Amino acid sequence: MSKEEMKIGRRFEGKVAIVTASTQGIGFSIAERLGLEGAAVVVSSRKQKNVDEAVEKLKNKGIQVLGVVCQISDAQQRKDLINKTVEKYGKIDVVVSNAAANPTVSLLLETPESVLDKVWEINVKASVLLLQEAAPYLQKGSSVVLISSIMGYRPQIAMAMYGITKTALLGLTKALAKEMAPDTRVNCVAPGLVPTNFAAFLTKDEVLKKTAEESTLLGKLGTPGDMAAAASFLASDDASYITGETLVVAGGAPSRL
Ligand code: NAP
Repeated sequence: MSKEEMKIGRRFEGKVAIVTASTQGIGFSIAERLGLEGAAVVVSSRKQKNVDEAVEKLKNKGIQVLGVVCQISDAQQRKDLINKTVEKYGKIDVVVSNAAANPTVSLLLETPESVLDKVWEINVKASVLLLQEAAPYLQKGSSVVLISSIMGYRPQIAMAMYGITKTALLGLTKALAKEMAPDTRVNCVAPGLVPTNFAAFLTKDEVLKKTAEESTLLGKLGTPGDMAAAASFLASDDASYITGETLVVAGGAPSRL
């Protein structure tokens, strides 16, 4: 166990946590953090091989883990994810909805309808549909965390539709928090730029990377671990009086007042 891991508490002992799109990057890091804090975690993504590798890595850290293939926009695979979780663990305490797609850098007025639909379906609609499946099994005191983006506050011209779906998640957080209270809290994390595969086209370009670093107050990009710390805080009882909120985790990059 690393020095950092030794500082981690055990806030999720006895809890069951599903994290979508969790075989690498931010989702994996959230699953790892929840697992190190005692949760039984359910990891998933589109590819069996990635699921198997993530399960192995988490098991090697002593984490109780189940892996399920789940392409988040596939209704049957969403059902499987929930059913297999409940078959194995009997309940759900935490759902982190992390899957997203950004298939285009076209201008909005030039983006084909099929692409607009796909981004909306994966980034917004699938979160609602997954929670519809999960709702009957969510416990009193349970918690949902959506993963938005700083781009939800400032849609960029080349990723506008992606940004707009991330803005929608801020509203979805408020609406679900109302609907699911008082038994389930719903919050959101809005990460700044984190060098993962998803963001590689930005972070591998030294000029863009430097500009992004300079747009933060802390002079650096975030890490998956930074996002995991925020998501696990919101999912934990330490945040038991927080619902309907979005936590921007972006090193002070401009978001809102
Ligand atoms: P990443 O490192 O590229 O990881 C993406 C993960 O999602 C992989 O495990 C991938 O595995 C899985 N995945 C992709 N499409 C999927 C789908 N349709 N259904 C299910 N699983 C899917 O990405 P990341 O940077 O961690 O991004 C995670 C979240 O953070 C996203 O919601 C993103 O919008 C948000 N975010 C990221 C940044 C950033 O700078 N990285 C900034 C703000 C917000 P498979 O290939 O096996 O499916």
